Amino acid sequence: MAATVSVNGRITSGADAVVSVFDHGFLYGEGVYETLRTYRGQPFLFERHIRRLRNSAGMMLLNLPFSDDDLDAEIRRTMSAATLGGTEAYIRVLVTRGVGELSYDPQVTPHPSVIVIVKPHIDPPQDLYSRGVRAVIVDVVRNHPNSVSPMIKSNNLLNCALAAQEAMRRGGFEGIMRNYRGDLTECTTSNLFIVKGGVALTPPLESGLLPGITREFLFDIGPAVGIAVREHVLRDADLFGADEAFLTGTTREVLPIVTVDDRPIGDGTPGPVTGALLAEFRRRAHGDIPAR
Ligand code: PLP
Repeated sequence: MAATVSVNGRITSGADAVVSVFDHGFLYGEGVYETLRTYRGQPFLFERHIRRLRNSAGMMLLNLPFSDDDLDAEIRRTMSAATLGGTEAYIRVLVTRGVGELSYDPQVTPHPSVIVIVKPHIDPPQDLYSRGVRAVIVDVVRNHPNSVSPMIKSNNLLNCALAAQEAMRRGGFEGIMRNYRGDLTECTTSNLFIVKGGVALTPPLESGLLPGITREFLFDIGPAVGIAVREHVLRDADLFGADEAFLTGTTREVLPIVTVDDRPIGDGTPGPVTGALLAEFRRRAHGDIPAR
């Protein structure tokens, strides 16, 4: 694995980057994470990511043992040690409950483990943006908000991993998950939008989904290109009756969905609203307009 890793401040590479089997991140899946990427060498939307990391940690009563500036400095230190060869960086920050006795009592793990993984960012192939991707609606139901809340960006990814396995088995680039009520929520590693009558609609957080940073950013930038972006409860029929659909995520930006369960969305090609949002997103991300 060609990655450079800071494990509790100790920088190593690849397979030498290890945590204890008594870390509760390993034993119980207790941990939170963020995925960021750089544009022009700068972590993009850092403040939003750290805010979500703190929210995720707060929802599982995990104290983050660093300030925002500390984390920023550690990311930059790890990036400096990495061999990126002029490419942008993929950055994954993980904080786990830490090492302790086999007990769910948080008091046995006073020191969270903090890990920063840096490796070269690889863009999705550009033809995915021009041709669009196939998605499928999977049978795996998104976690009930009162069990493991999808609002927590948790290292425990089994819900999404099982949904992604189903999507892959069925030839989908992404799997769209419903909630326990049958409403659409999000995809396994990205958020879902449809376009109807020129308006971009995405399921509300109450449907039970991760508050994606890219999703959030679109609410800010849509109006700049004359596109209203709103939350709306979405059902299967809304998706199949949509003019366009797309997914959003840190490493994928704004990616058109052209078929769902082998049925075309709109005319089955990437639509103009998706294209306008992608173009505006990239304009901001590449720094023509500063983004925080
Ligand atoms: N939803 C899920 C389940 C995810 O895992 C991700 C990203 O990994 C997203 C949505 C997109 O979030 P973001 O835009 O913050 O990358």
